[in-house]
Amino acid sequence: MTVADNAALPRFDAWIGGQTVAPASGAYFETVNPYTSRPWAEVARCGEADVDAAVDAAWTAFTKGPWATLSATARGALLRRVGDLIAAHADELAAMEVRDNGKLISEMGAQCAYLPQWYYYYGGLADKIEGAVIPIDKPDTFNYTLHEPLGVVAAITPWNSPLLLLTWKLAPALAAGCTVVVKPSEFTSTSTLRLAELFTEAGFPPGVVNVVTGFGAECGARLVEHPKVAKVAFTGGSDSGARVYQAAAGGLKRCTLELGGKSPNIVFDDAKLDDAVKGAISGIFAATGQTCIAGSRLLVQDGIYDAFVGKLVEFAKTARMGDPMDRATQVGPVTTPPQYEKILSYIQVAKDDGAELLLGGGPAKGQPGTGDSEYFVQPTIFGGVTNRMRIAQEEVFGPVLSIIRFKDDDEAVEIANDIAFGLAAGIWTQSIKRALAVSKAVRAGTVWVNTYRAVSFMSPFGGYKQSGIGRENGIEAINEYLQTKSVWISTADDVPNPFVMR
Ligand code: NAD
Repeated sequence: MTVADNAALPRFDAWIGGQTVAPASGAYFETVNPYTSRPWAEVARCGEADVDAAVDAAWTAFTKGPWATLSATARGALLRRVGDLIAAHADELAAMEVRDNGKLISEMGAQCAYLPQWYYYYGGLADKIEGAVIPIDKPDTFNYTLHEPLGVVAAITPWNSPLLLLTWKLAPALAAGCTVVVKPSEFTSTSTLRLAELFTEAGFPPGVVNVVTGFGAECGARLVEHPKVAKVAFTGGSDSGARVYQAAAGGLKRCTLELGGKSPNIVFDDAKLDDAVKGAISGIFAATGQTCIAGSRLLVQDGIYDAFVGKLVEFAKTARMGDPMDRATQVGPVTTPPQYEKILSYIQVAKDDGAELLLGGGPAKGQPGTGDSEYFVQPTIFGGVTNRMRIAQEEVFGPVLSIIRFKDDDEAVEIANDIAFGLAAGIWTQSIKRALAVSKAVRAGTVWVNTYRAVSFMSPFGGYKQSGIGRENGIEAINEYLQTKSVWISTADDVPNPFVMR
């Protein structure tokens, strides 16, 4: 759907049981284009009644509908079909994402064009979920295992990469045979609603994929608590993640959490400096720093510190702010007003704590390329940061880089690990020995050597420490949506002594 910003605001309803459904309360909220700072659509404000209807639709689809008896091979074929449809609609989906979250069309376009691969990959995996025949140690007994879908999955997503992060949940959950109720971020609901339509167009039975839109505390919280939800797959901030985890524990539900990060990007003195500069830039200014895997702690070795930092600041100065729909733009606006305020407050914290401001350091409103947007922040670099400063320890989720100096490999690893998060890390070196040793020593779910921000449907992704629980992507992710049943069949002629355990 493409709508001019100045047209009457279009409305987006929830998607339940394979059709649009107006919210029971009749209430809607506005979704804002961060580049124009103006609302461009209204979205259903779903509450308890809508969540209950969506979970009921998903439960019915899981237990009674055609989905429940569909062969795994047919499930895989449906996943491949929706992959084809997403490929055909990738530009449309990407434009909706940019309109809602203000990230670059070059980034969202590439993400949306890549999404089909997840549906092809997990579509292929759907009929390779195999149990085992156990060579059981009991006479006259046949024992085998089945891997069965968990049931209704609640998929809760953030605003920074709505469809990519949803796909990481949806593709394996559906391949496993689960049904899903999605709750996208209140800031970026529209692309998810459009995606849900494509599932119906691809032939998924009603109720297999549902979307409720609204706020975390009223819509998301009800979804997590709903007794018919078997599993919660959540991506978001660590504070909300902890609340979701507690609520899921109350119902003894399965839970995977993809949470925040404050990733070390480590530049050793034997690195190719120009490559490492690009790696540092892509680690923090790509996506306006609004990425969980941002390399927001740049660790630079003593011997190259001045040369490297000089090159980095010069390169960062050339970053072009602008309309995120323009492919030449390199830094877009911040997505949400609270996020904008949070970034500015952290810049102040860094200044107050004595970090050395090397670039930027404030709002960019009115600067070339920023249009009417209220929400641009200057690409900002702080040098002379120590690992005890708040700017080195807390997630900013914006274009703010902290540079920390280190002496040797041991100190680099010590600083890298001295933090509550453990989502990702980057290492820049030409020594294979050092690359292997430091990759092993760093406590993070993903380590990149001489590259940064690479992800794939094939490679497991997730956090150490407070960055998360469980893994998405790769073959193992499907296990997060399955449970194992052990089936025992006696082939004996009679039942032995009932007072003794068999
Ligand atoms: P957020 O935690 O504010 O919101 C995420 C989602 O959770 C939204 O849909 C929100 O409505 C919902 N929510 C909030 N409170 C809830 C509750 N009590 N019960 C149920 N649902 C609730 O996060 P955000 O601001 O949208 O996204 C930014 C955060 O996401 C950052 O911290 C970032 O690091 C993290 N993130 C992590 C990954 C990852 O894969 N590890 C990827 C992207 C973003």
